[in-house]
Amino acid sequence: MSTIELPPARVIDGTRHIHSGKVRDLYELEQGPYAGQLLMVASDRISAFDHILSPAIPDKGEILTRMSLWWFDQLADLVPHHVLSTDVPAEVRGRAVICERLAMFPVECVARGYLTGSGLLDYRATGEVCGVPLPDGLEDGSRLPEPIFTPAAKAELGEHDENVSFDAVVETVGEEVAVRLRDLTLAVYARAEGIARDRGIILADTKLELGARADGTMVLADEVLTPDSSRFWPADQWEPGHAQPSYDKQFVRDWLLSPASGWDRAADQPPPELPAEIVDLTRQRYVEAFERLTGQTF
Ligand code: ATP
Ligand code: MG
Repeated sequence: MSTIELPPARVIDGTRHIHSGKVRDLYELEQGPYAGQLLMVASDRISAFDHILSPAIPDKGEILTRMSLWWFDQLADLVPHHVLSTDVPAEVRGRAVICERLAMFPVECVARGYLTGSGLLDYRATGEVCGVPLPDGLEDGSRLPEPIFTPAAKAELGEHDENVSFDAVVETVGEEVAVRLRDLTLAVYARAEGIARDRGIILADTKLELGARADGTMVLADEVLTPDSSRFWPADQWEPGHAQPSYDKQFVRDWLLSPASGWDRAADQPPPELPAEIVDLTRQRYVEAFERLTGQTF
């Protein structure tokens, strides 16, 4: 178990701070046309192994915000999204969105087309992931026979999310909602996987968060299809049997686990400061993912 030290949230006029996660800060708007709705601010914070690292990665919040917005557009005909406006207070311009306040479903909706991470660990232990039986002989990075829904229960700050079975989701939200969450998650994955593939990127897995409007409409919330919520792999380097190179905090994780960092993950100590070179490589990686996917220049 680890505890997380969050920096104090910035004060933004006309808003009330209501929540901070490892990476994002959430505010309620107190005035203006969207009073009562939410302001979601993506910081440049980066987390690994359930620690918030220092220093931050310059521009990360803006890159991920722009990527989410681009994906919301690509998915708009499949599912409505929560963004109401990008006209946000000046101090968070580019890294924040105004979004509908939804009743969030207490389920992290994960789709996997490839096996790695916690899915691989579960598979090695049981031959299944979230109760879905898989064929023998799969390895790290293997493509699954078909994409699967592997929901997780949201953990408290600083804890790992816990993979759960579809039946557990049914118990939490009822069968009808569970089926809709699963079908929507798999539809979003299929759409996004195809788009990414056309750009030379494998979308190995992704985590969505969905919420409901008062009238019951399901709406895509949070961030979507960013390197913080998804695994993107360069398709030309894909080779099952070991960890894949990836468009996320891979440089950070590799460095932390290397002798160069001097960090003992098992000891209850915060990780050391990231060297400038690792910060820079990580920033470049986020920019590259954004540019390759969207075709835009950052
Ligand atoms: P962490 O991601 O560090 O584990 P976290 O998920 O609590 O922690 P963030 O992801 O930084 O924190 O913050 C976003 C929070 O806002 C999440 O709790 C998410 O469920 C919630 N959220 C996102 N979009 C909406 C929305 N439209 N309405 C209500 N809550 C939302
Ligand atoms: Mg989160």
